[in-house]
Amino acid sequence: MVRRNTGFANLTAGYLFPEVARRSREYAASHPDAEIISLSIGNTTEPLTPHISKAMSDYALSLATPEGYSGYGDDQGLPSLREKIAETFYTGMADSDEVFISDGAKCDIARIQTLFGRKVHVAVQDPAYPVYVDGSVLINAAGANRNGRYKNITYLPCTPENSFLPDFSEVKKDSLIYFCSPNNPTGYASTKEELLQLVNFAKAHGCIIIFDAAYAQFIRTPGLPRSIFEIEGARDCAIEINSFSKPAGFTGVRLGWSVVPKTLLFADGTPVIKDWLRVMTTLFNGASNIAQHGGLAALDPEGLVEMKNIIDYYLENVKIIHKTLEGDNFKQAGVQIYSTGNSPYLWVRFPGYKSWDIFDRILDECRVVTTPGSGFGASGESFIRFSSFGHHEAVQEACRRLSLLTL
Ligand SMILES: *Cc1c(COP(=O)(O)O)cnc(C)c1O
Repeated sequence: MVRRNTGFANLTAGYLFPEVARRSREYAASHPDAEIISLSIGNTTEPLTPHISKAMSDYALSLATPEGYSGYGDDQGLPSLREKIAETFYTGMADSDEVFISDGAKCDIARIQTLFGRKVHVAVQDPAYPVYVDGSVLINAAGANRNGRYKNITYLPCTPENSFLPDFSEVKKDSLIYFCSPNNPTGYASTKEELLQLVNFAKAHGCIIIFDAAYAQFIRTPGLPRSIFEIEGARDCAIEINSFSKPAGFTGVRLGWSVVPKTLLFADGTPVIKDWLRVMTTLFNGASNIAQHGGLAALDPEGLVEMKNIIDYYLENVKIIHKTLEGDNFKQAGVQIYSTGNSPYLWVRFPGYKSWDIFDRILDECRVVTTPGSGFGASGESFIRFSSFGHHEAVQEACRRLSLLTL
């Protein structure tokens, strides 16, 4: 019989969100009248905006005409979209031929691992978005699993104690370093000086940074970098991955991009971009042309305003949740809130509690689903991640219930 890929057996129990879903379903089954509100996963809730959705529907209709029809598109995506992305986000930092259009950031993160094979050493922030580690496990790059930690992965604790700036000296030479800013789950948005430390470390130790900028458009504090390529030297050591999912509500539409600078080289001198083009043309057949026309519209002046307004809507929710968590019931329990207003997430510590215990308690008492911080890594223990993706009314009701939580 065909043997199972050992990576799957190596994967630690369940992916985080299925377990969250399982517990919520179980609760709902035993409390059929409870109106459960989710402040849990990073799924957008607000409708597509008019300018962007109209562009997609117009394009979809034109596909039904002989003049408007198109089949497979260019491998790297619509040239006009690549140019618009380069112009909008990377002027002076990257060219349009370094931009690759995709069906989303998660898919790019999964595919990118094929570039490096299973012998590469990987470093991740702890806590981190689960795909960096789990994707490495599935291609057998993570090594043996010891109590949920993998042998070939270096975990870089990012905690309030180190101001969410990890100690890079633990990272092995020639590693891939996954780095996410503004961070999911901590919400922390790194400064230029901090990212310069990361880039300098990577350059000095032969590492490649995979920079996940999925939340870049949530940055509101002036001066904080929205791209790794704002940092001097990054073109020699970094790849950026980004997405329309969170800023334009494209979680279901599916559209993202990666930027691979021509100056980024493998040890043998081969440009990484050459192999990335190969991966994208071999394992991927291009993003939906309808979605790409939505992306083009999102980068029009009207589309940019619409995206800003959607993000402001979620950031307003962040303020509402923040205020609730400053209430006396939380204060008395010593609850600490980490949120800079540059991300849709609030990272909240409940000292003396385990994450899953607080998760169960909030579900049980408030009928609100959250995400246990420990699911993102050992350093997330005793934290809860609150997501601001929700309708104002639902968030307000969730907050009313949270203000009654007894700790
Ligand atoms: C949501 C999210 C993504 C996934 O984006 P898609 O483009 O929808 O695949 C990637 N990275 C982080 C950190 C995310 O939170």
